Amino acid sequence: LFGPEARDADGRVRVSGQQLRHLRQVLGKGVGDTVRAGEIGGLMGCAGIVAIDKHSALLEPQLDTPPPPKLPLVLVLALPRPKMLRRTLRALAEFGVGEVHLVNSWKVEKSYWQTPVLAPATLREYCLQGLEQACDTVLPAIHLCPRFKPFAEDTLPGLLAGRRGLVAHPGDYPPCPRAPGGELLLAVGPEGGFTPYEVDMLSAPGCEAVSLGPRILRVENAVSALLARLF
Ligand code: SAM
Repeated sequence: LFGPEARDADGRVRVSGQQLRHLRQVLGKGVGDTVRAGEIGGLMGCAGIVAIDKHSALLEPQLDTPPPPKLPLVLVLALPRPKMLRRTLRALAEFGVGEVHLVNSWKVEKSYWQTPVLAPATLREYCLQGLEQACDTVLPAIHLCPRFKPFAEDTLPGLLAGRRGLVAHPGDYPPCPRAPGGELLLAVGPEGGFTPYEVDMLSAPGCEAVSLGPRILRVENAVSALLARLF
């Protein structure tokens, strides 16, 4: 994937760094070969390699395919610790989540909100890794909500308009529905889980608590398992 700023006056794209390493060392590509390519926020397609050496590669993109559609879903995710956030963002971008609200929760450590990982450029980088894997070009919109109560009271009711809301909570709750159809909102808790108070706050405007059974899944596995079940 490349941004519009990577194109030169002829519409060609020069890549270096990680992408160059991937082209040369992982894919073993050379001049005349074709690779998959996409413009961030635009079309997908392929690109011919016009020149390549150890410093950079020059690509001639031919983009003609729209990216796959996003899931009809808003994901509300209690902010995980930085390492897990990276894996979770990569996974949710790969699945096609288009809108994410990273929210606070009682069990989210305050320090997580101060990490450099939350810089827009870093969030974008993590999501791009998932999009590249899935051949998608459209970044998810990520909203930071460092206060739980205003989110639950003021923002959530609007997000739930026209959507069925689900809160994933391990334990004795109805099973998470399989492919229910329609627009959904899914809330996933932090490593220590949502507190009962938070589940009540999320339920008040209409979210239903649902479970994947008695096994406690890591956040990124819970997100992947829930998305695979819902869509
Ligand atoms: N100790 C926490 C608890 O018992 O609630 C576990 C939290 S789990 C590591 C992180 C989040 O993933 C949970 O808050 C929930 O949203 C989701 N999750 C994990 N396992 C789940 C399951 N079996 N059913 C539903 N949600 C699950």
